[in-house]
Amino acid sequence: MPLDEIPRVTDQSPRYDCLLFDLDDTLYPLSSGIAEACTNNIKDYVNQKLGVERSRVPDLCTYLYKTYGTSMAGLRAVGYEFDYDDYHSFVHGRLPYENLKPDPVLKSLLLSMPQRKIIFTNGDKIHAAKVLNKLGLEGCFEGIICFETLNPPSRITENNNDWDMLSVNSTIPKTPVICKPSKVAIEQALRLASADPQKTIFFDDSLRNIAAGKRAGLHTVLVGTSVRTEGADFSLESIHNIREALPEIWEEGDAKRFKNVMSSRAAVAAFETVVTA
Ligand SMILES: [Mg+2]
Repeated sequence: MPLDEIPRVTDQSPRYDCLLFDLDDTLYPLSSGIAEACTNNIKDYVNQKLGVERSRVPDLCTYLYKTYGTSMAGLRAVGYEFDYDDYHSFVHGRLPYENLKPDPVLKSLLLSMPQRKIIFTNGDKIHAAKVLNKLGLEGCFEGIICFETLNPPSRITENNNDWDMLSVNSTIPKTPVICKPSKVAIEQALRLASADPQKTIFFDDSLRNIAAGKRAGLHTVLVGTSVRTEGADFSLESIHNIREALPEIWEEGDAKRFKNVMSSRAAVAAFETVVTA
């Protein structure tokens, strides 16, 4: 066969094969009031359960959130002891979930994307399940990486002496709680998802999380603003604008589906405990 008749071997691997979605204020708008209620509940917890004087609470919470990624991570880092489940049920248990309505437009968009889709949230699994239920998005995601996935019970009980290591190569100070935007959290999520950062798009409303994702080599989409900032490859005022901003997600089409089914099998095992919990 003449050389010019030999079929060329082209790279059939997809450009993107995994989509990581933050949950709160990313899959629904900030205007829902969930974030504001959550902040108020955290302040009440710090005052009522941890005994911090009410007048000191706002500054303390702001400082801890900005410094450690989440208020909970900050509270633990500066020495407060509390039960994580108690914290989550207090902070999330009274949220106005009724403000979240089914979003069939987003559901349709998600289901039409050929890539694997995974939630990556600092929230706990009960909160994640409630939000997805209220938005009508159950079944749209292959798995949920959440607080319990990043901080399994075995780690919480055994990590009293090793959490200094978590500050290594991180932009946030040491804390025993693994959460975005720490490098450890992002690397752990990628490992759990069996995802190649160069083929993964990360959606989040937090500038810090997006910047951390970019440092980890991910493609990044800042959600909630049309202003593109450092570390964000794209920005979307609403997750609903995704098709217009990133048509390439759909361009590789069906050829990708087979590959994704195969590559998702390894990841399924990692999520089993969360999905069935
Ligand atoms: Mg968020």
